Amino acid sequence: AAFPAERTALVTGAASARGIGRVTAERLAGDGWAVAIADLDGSASKEVAAEISDTYGVKTFGVGMNVADVDQVNAGIDDIEANLPQLVAAVNIAGISNPTPYLDITPAEWDLVMAVNLRGPHFVTQRSARSMVKNGVGRIVNISSCSAPMGGGTYSKTAYSTAKAGIEGLTRATARELSPMGITVNAVAPGPIDTDIMGGTLSDERKVELAAGLLVGRVGTQADIASMINYLVKEETSFITGQTYDVNGGLQFR
Ligand code: NAD
Repeated sequence: AAFPAERTALVTGAASARGIGRVTAERLAGDGWAVAIADLDGSASKEVAAEISDTYGVKTFGVGMNVADVDQVNAGIDDIEANLPQLVAAVNIAGISNPTPYLDITPAEWDLVMAVNLRGPHFVTQRSARSMVKNGVGRIVNISSCSAPMGGGTYSKTAYSTAKAGIEGLTRATARELSPMGITVNAVAPGPIDTDIMGGTLSDERKVELAAGLLVGRVGTQADIASMINYLVKEETSFITGQTYDVNGGLQFR
């Protein structure tokens, strides 16, 4: 196993009460990681950080960060490094959905989806990796979606699916450049997970409908995704890089 004992994992998008990010941050804290919480709202990030520190007894630090803004990303990670131990893992979970039909999407909306879902993970990866290379070790995990290979089909439409397909490309390309320096980069592509990202449309009825398309017969939980992320940041997974893992209950789309 190894790693923790004074190592930090940064989780973006971790302040959402019912989100994948928060549960991932808790899972990593449970394994002894010091955890940095980065989300849009600085006070919410700090609150979540304090709660996790109380519950798991690890060092935490919360910071307000719009991942689409390179200056905020760089300043935020400077701040994290000044307050927490060595940064070893960065998990790019911050993201927004977008259900706008293709024929209606405006340039501004398209740019926002790309900025948050694709440029953001790039900024966080680049800044984190600049620190990781100095130590010769790092673990980066990105969040794609089943919408990337399917071209949508659960809630979000073309802009989102395109950005997530980009995440899988970013994962392969950064893995090629960074793995020789000890930094692995992988992605997890969740199927439908019971969070608030689908803008209130994930009703009990809709869950039954979505679950019918999954071999396991239920929609996913945040913990289903967190456990795969937790695996990919382990020291022992140093031979896994550039991959995207479907964690989707057996969603049949090929
Ligand atoms: P969520 O809405 O609960 O969490 C998203 C978090 O990202 C929120 O805390 C939000 O404040 C934060 N965020 C949004 N824009 C940001 C920005 N510019 N900078 C920093 N933080 C920002 O949603 P979730 O379902 O937990 O989604 C987490 C990730 O999982 C997303 O990347 C999403 O695309 C992906 N995903 C979710 C599902 C699903 O079914 N829930 C499926 C596939 C992929």
